[in-house]
Amino acid sequence: MSTQETPIAKTTTSGADVLPDYAPVPPSSLGPALNDQGYYVGRVERNLFWVTDGTYQAAFLTTPDGVILFDAPPTIGHNLQRAVDEIAAANGVSNKVTYLFYSHHHADHVGASSLFDKSVTRIGHEETRRLLLRDDDPARPPNEETFQDTRTLEIGGERIDLAWHGPNHSPDNIAIHLPDHDTLVLIDIVNPGWAPIYLSNLTEDIPGYIEASANALAYSWKHFIGGHMGRLGTRDDVTLHQQYMADISESSRQAITSVDPTPYFVKYGQNAWAAVKGYLDEIAATAAAPVIEKYTGVLAAADVFTESTTFQVMQSIRLDLGHGSYVHP
Ligand SMILES: [Zn+2]
Repeated sequence: MSTQETPIAKTTTSGADVLPDYAPVPPSSLGPALNDQGYYVGRVERNLFWVTDGTYQAAFLTTPDGVILFDAPPTIGHNLQRAVDEIAAANGVSNKVTYLFYSHHHADHVGASSLFDKSVTRIGHEETRRLLLRDDDPARPPNEETFQDTRTLEIGGERIDLAWHGPNHSPDNIAIHLPDHDTLVLIDIVNPGWAPIYLSNLTEDIPGYIEASANALAYSWKHFIGGHMGRLGTRDDVTLHQQYMADISESSRQAITSVDPTPYFVKYGQNAWAAVKGYLDEIAATAAAPVIEKYTGVLAAADVFTESTTFQVMQSIRLDLGHGSYVHP
């Protein structure tokens, strides 16, 4: 698709509102239809199930020791228990949630935790506990059970491997590997079929975020639960995301070198921040343009969020990696 054909930010006037148009969502980025209550629940493998509202995802295992829930997004909310009830009834097993794993401390993924009983065993990283104690949000009771680097649990006969590979999207985000279900649960890194939202999925540590895809692929699995949007992921989705991020990094390095700051500093004079904004925004836009063109029609919303993600990656290349940094002679 040529740049001219790429429908980036064309505007339509409707009354007083002027809203941009974006490229259509590829059908392959969408998942199964939701039921009347606004959720879909499906089997991943054996007694592992996933539930989505089309934007957020959680998962659960049914076991003889009760239901093991992975995350509790508030947008799914009470539909979590409805999904569990539906599956438990169909399979003649307990619908009582007894364990709740936290992927990380963010309210949008675990903010429905308080819907479940105090007696539920909550498990997550030690930093998740620290951050939840700090944030003191009654919707998110701090996990009592913690670990530092890795921890393997066997609950109701099912193996659950937890690992913290360092900060990425958040300081406390963990990988949850279910080796006997060929599944990796890794939240807020790869959105299968979709570009990351703002600033690389609102990521705090870009080098860790980029490394997280490689860490994910180092595990053995077939099914990927990324925490976002309407479908499960595959290894190809993670590889595609990895290529997208690599293209943004490479394009950013080139733009840092090629964009000329002079016109901005000449125009804005003493207002150094105005010059910096114009200069860095031009680098981000220049770096993002070929990536948007390449991924439009491949990753949904590439034209919506790539420039924002590129800005964040470009900052990391400058500040974490030191690219384009010159010492005054
Ligand atoms: Zn998050």
